[in-house]
Amino acid sequence: MTKPASAASGDEIAVRFNAVTKRFGKTVALHEVSLAVRRGEFMTLLGPSGCGKTTLLNLAAGFFSPDGGEILIDGERVNDLPTYRREIGMMFQNYALFPHMTVAANVAYGLKVRHVDKHEIGRRVGEALALVKLTGMEDRKPRQLSGGQQQRVALARALVINPTVLLLDEPFSALDKNLRGSMQVELREIQRKLGVTTIFVTHDQSEALSLSDRLAVMSEGHIRQLGTPTEIYRRPCDRFVASFVGDANVLRGRLDRIDGTQVSVAIGALRVSVPSGSLQGAQLSAPVDLYVRPEHLQLTEAGGPCARSGTIVGQVYQGGHVDLFVECTDSRSERLLVRSAGYQAMTRWPVGAQVGISISADEGVAFAIP
Ligand code: ATP
Repeated sequence: MTKPASAASGDEIAVRFNAVTKRFGKTVALHEVSLAVRRGEFMTLLGPSGCGKTTLLNLAAGFFSPDGGEILIDGERVNDLPTYRREIGMMFQNYALFPHMTVAANVAYGLKVRHVDKHEIGRRVGEALALVKLTGMEDRKPRQLSGGQQQRVALARALVINPTVLLLDEPFSALDKNLRGSMQVELREIQRKLGVTTIFVTHDQSEALSLSDRLAVMSEGHIRQLGTPTEIYRRPCDRFVASFVGDANVLRGRLDRIDGTQVSVAIGALRVSVPSGSLQGAQLSAPVDLYVRPEHLQLTEAGGPCARSGTIVGQVYQGGHVDLFVECTDSRSERLLVRSAGYQAMTRWPVGAQVGISISADEGVAFAIP
């Protein structure tokens, strides 16, 4: 299998959605969505059920046309180009292999309908099956394969045509956790090796963070934020993204100082410096909410200067870390989640212990109170 050649135009963008709108009756599934997917990029569409991610993917696939805006693949406007004329590889939740065909015939299908020469088909099917580690299984029928193997056949079938774009819609949701993890790693290795532009749909935020070059977080037919996993996780642009992606504690504080691109937020006895973001122009002393990840809170001995003080009310051992729940006594009965690496926190901070809480420098984002 070959790496896709650069487009003749030299355009860095493989798929471009320009102000795309899609309606189903009165439902507006997508509101003027714009997104540029770079060549070779692994782009994830992440969002809750009904936010429009599958609709965006289906538009790229050509299952229906947009009501407004335009879609370009490799620089060509494809709004009304039928699916079979787009060089697209697809793998969906139900991998829909042809049950009566062998593994080899399933993988060969896309090449046959494109009238590829028989010897060439044999060679490319062999390569695709080697890529997904299924060499030797050519003559089996899908029912003689495990769920993970069937998923690999589906991937080989999607890749064998050397697609311009690979479209994946929740491809691993039917697999158990372990298999899902190993399939994710393999998919990413294969995707990198081939350099194939990929659009991946999921509502699983950890899958999105671990796999993607960039992700687009969607809600109600809009892209709320586009960025790398670290940008999205560390610098969410609004409350929705901050709460949807990863766990977040919300601590009410006051705006203490505005200093160019940074602001200082007073939380209890501490001052926490965070990016000014949406707080540019806000009034000093205004109440703000600081969103902080559980691993950026630390427990301290009670009595010292801290952001909050409270009582440990629960511990959950998670293997690599411990989740500790703290009922705050000095604020509007906030319950905070503190994530501590290792297992030592289990004995150091038992249930019932009085604790203080501090916040890692420069971690967190603050939003004005609506
Ligand atoms: P999920 O994770 O549940 O698949 P999603 O984010 O992929 O959700 P979409 O399937 O894109 O969401 O749906 C977006 C909106 O458009 C929803 O309100 C949905 O009900 C509606 N919708 C999608 N497809 C159709 C259709 N063929 N006919 C009518 N409404 C549709």
